[in-house]
Amino acid sequence: MLKTNILIFLLISSLFAKTEIINIGIYHKSKITSFVFHPVNGAYSVFTEKGKLINIDNGEVIEVKYSNNNIQIKSLDKDYGSFKKVRFIGIESENSFKIKIPIYKKVREYEDNLLVNLHNYYDYFQLINNIDIDNYVAGVVESEVGRNPPPEYFKLQAIICRTYALKNIDRHTAEGFSLCNKVHCQAYHGKPKSVLIKEAALETNGIVIVDSDIDLITATFYSNCGGQTANSEEVWRQELYYLRTTKDTFCLNENNAVWTKKISKTEWTKYLKKHNCSEDALNHECGTEYFQIGREQFYHKDGVKIPFVKIRQDFKLKSAQFDVIEAGQQVILKGKGFGHGVGLCQEGAMRMAKLGYSYIDILHYYYEDVHMVNLESLAFFKADF
Ligand SMILES: [Zn+2]
Ligand SMILES: [Zn+2]
Repeated sequence: MLKTNILIFLLISSLFAKTEIINIGIYHKSKITSFVFHPVNGAYSVFTEKGKLINIDNGEVIEVKYSNNNIQIKSLDKDYGSFKKVRFIGIESENSFKIKIPIYKKVREYEDNLLVNLHNYYDYFQLINNIDIDNYVAGVVESEVGRNPPPEYFKLQAIICRTYALKNIDRHTAEGFSLCNKVHCQAYHGKPKSVLIKEAALETNGIVIVDSDIDLITATFYSNCGGQTANSEEVWRQELYYLRTTKDTFCLNENNAVWTKKISKTEWTKYLKKHNCSEDALNHECGTEYFQIGREQFYHKDGVKIPFVKIRQDFKLKSAQFDVIEAGQQVILKGKGFGHGVGLCQEGAMRMAKLGYSYIDILHYYYEDVHMVNLESLAFFKADF
C-alpha cells in the first residue's frame, strides 16, 4: 500500500513538474530559403518524416536549403538528401543553437528545438522554435525591455509576458504555431544575454496573473501613462474591472513623460472641419486651444466631439493625452506619456522597482484586484470547477 502511495505521489509530482512547451513562429513572414544550423550548448538529433537522421554536437554545422518544394540537408562533407519535414531536437538537459541566414547579418541564438516546415503555398521555409515557456519568456523580456531595468522589474515583466503568451496561445493556430516573434504577439529575438533576466524568468516559473473568475488577465502594458492610466473601454471596447484609471506619480520624471508635436494650423482646422466644426466655430477658436483636464475621453468643444484615441491614431501621436496651443501659423500639441495607457506603465513600474517595491506591490498598483497563481494550480482549478 505504502509503495502504491509513493508511486502515485511520484506520478503526480512528475505530472506537475511537466514543463509547458510552446511553438513560436520565428523569422515570421521572412522569405527564408536557406540557413546554417549549429548547436551551441548540448547536442541535437535531427529527425525527418522518415525517422531519425543523425546526431550532431557543437562542433558541427548543418546546411538547410529549399529546393523544389523539399528541404535539403547537408553537412560539410555529406549530402543527406531531401525531406518534407525536419526537426532539430535538443537531447541534453540544456540545448541551444545558432541560425545563420545569408540574407541577414545577425546570427541569432535560440534555446530548445527547431522545427522546419514547407509552406503550403509559398516557396520558402516556415521556422518554428519549439521551446520551454520560461526560456521563451526570458527571451521576450529582453527583447521587449532591454537589459537596463532593475532585477525586480524583470520578474514583473516575466509574469506579464507569460500571462500574455498563454492568453494569446491560439493566435496563429491556423498557421501551425502559437505565437509569432513580432510585436504583433510579443517581440522575441531568441536567447537573452542577461543572466538576471534568465533568473527572473526561472524564479517566477509558472506564475501567471488571473482575474476573479480565475481566467488569465489581459496583461496590457505600454511605456508611460503621463501621470494617469486609462480605463480599458476608453481605448478598446471591452470594459475590464482590473484595467481602471489610476493616478501615477512614479513615471512623471521619466524619459517618455512629456512630448510635443507641431502641426500647421491649416492642417489642424481642416481636420476639425471634417469632424463637424463649422467655419463660424473655427473663427471662435473652437479648434486652436484645448486643455485636457486629467485624461479626457473626447475632444469636446463647440459641436465637435472626437475621441482623443482617434486623434492619436490619425496624427500618429505618442499618446491620447495632450493640450492644443495656438502658436502663430501652427498649433502645438503638448502631450503626456507614451502608449495607450491601459494597464501597466513600464516607466512607472521601473521607478517603483528602483525605489524598492516588490514585483507583487507593483503588479497590484497597476492591475486592480488580480491574483497571482501558478499554472499548475490554474490547471487544478479549471479541472475542478
Ligand atoms: Zn503574431
Ligand atoms: Zn505612469
